[in-house]
Amino acid sequence: MASRNRIGRREFIVTSAGALAAGLGSACGRVPASEIEEAAAKVGRLPQRALDRSGRKVSVLIGAATWAPEAVEAGILCGINYWHKSDEWEGRSVPPAILKNREAHYCEVCVDRVRGNHETGVIDEQAHYDFVKHALERTGLRYFDDMMFHFGYHRTAEVKSNPAFLRTYERLKKEGLVRHLCLSQHSYNGNGRVPDGEDRAMILTAVVADGVYEHAQFAFTFGEGEALNKFVSLAKSKGFGTIAMKTTGGAARMQANREFMGKFPSGTTPHNALARWLTTRTDLSAAVIQINNLEQFVDTYSGAGKPLRAADARAIEVMTAYANREVCRLCNDCMSHCGQGVAIADILRYERYATDYGERERARRLYAQLDKKGDACLVCGSCLPHCPQGLNVPAKLADAHRLLS
Ligand code: SF4
Ligand code: SF4
Repeated sequence: MASRNRIGRREFIVTSAGALAAGLGSACGRVPASEIEEAAAKVGRLPQRALDRSGRKVSVLIGAATWAPEAVEAGILCGINYWHKSDEWEGRSVPPAILKNREAHYCEVCVDRVRGNHETGVIDEQAHYDFVKHALERTGLRYFDDMMFHFGYHRTAEVKSNPAFLRTYERLKKEGLVRHLCLSQHSYNGNGRVPDGEDRAMILTAVVADGVYEHAQFAFTFGEGEALNKFVSLAKSKGFGTIAMKTTGGAARMQANREFMGKFPSGTTPHNALARWLTTRTDLSAAVIQINNLEQFVDTYSGAGKPLRAADARAIEVMTAYANREVCRLCNDCMSHCGQGVAIADILRYERYATDYGERERARRLYAQLDKKGDACLVCGSCLPHCPQGLNVPAKLADAHRLLS
């Protein structure tokens, strides 16, 4: 069972010959094709499962345009067929293997609110339409399979009261430029910049009841609270697809912590245990994990669809305990208790980008756009009793400010 997806390197290269002929390797000059093939052979073909009621099948772990190019190419060899944030590929950076075999890949475009950020911006039919058309011109992908409303709705009432995003989708769909509708959903409860903002599980439940969207992405990892777990089960029962993002729960900082790793169960790694857990012990349709090089790809994605061994189960236990002590789960419960309006969850989300995903430049860029940064914290302590994890929020904010300034 454990080796169900594992195939020999030689056999793998024979089965992937079609992909190589289609242009694989040519977008990734820095890393020799042999190393990409070697990595892909170690991972093997990923199993697939139904994404949502559209009947499409996707690899149990999907890929992202934010990955290192060599990891994207190894992923294609392993049968990864859904690409998150495909609009971030620019012209020559679109993998030739995807352009030449376009129908074999599901490419997603992420569409943000305009004239402000995810809290203050608005939904605007024409601006979103223009954005998608421009993204198609930039990438040359011809159409996007999935059009994603990035960050999602602020409250359940908005799902019905503001149909502008749906109108954009219908226009683009008629023109054959998009095919399916999805959203990523963040929490807005307690957020002073979003009046009457609500929690993501509540909003997602309303989205499923509304019946228009086909699948959703949201932050989800081990040790998640009851509300989100209930939503994931509900979604599965309704044929609504769920893709977990921000899944690592601090796995990279755990790996960098000598003391933690000194007591870590032998025979597994944080990312491999995570991949096994996400793909075999949850009701999710799929999940995505950020990958910055081939080594990470092999370590993490070789766990996709494989059973959770005793060492992995123990690893998830110790990782959950560590994450509860150290890593903000972005629940927003502290936010309404901060009289200074510090963007606590956004700041700690950017800290995760820098610390856990190796995306320090992006994190710093996003941090620079915040109106109230970590140094606006007066260390008054009002938020402390409201963090379900008991995090020392002011200390976390000070650390994040040093890291991101
Ligand atoms: S300690 Fe800082 S973040 Fe917490 S409520 Fe006070 S000012 Fe806001
Ligand atoms: S600091 Fe605590 S309460 Fe605030 S968003 Fe993070 S986990 Fe939730």
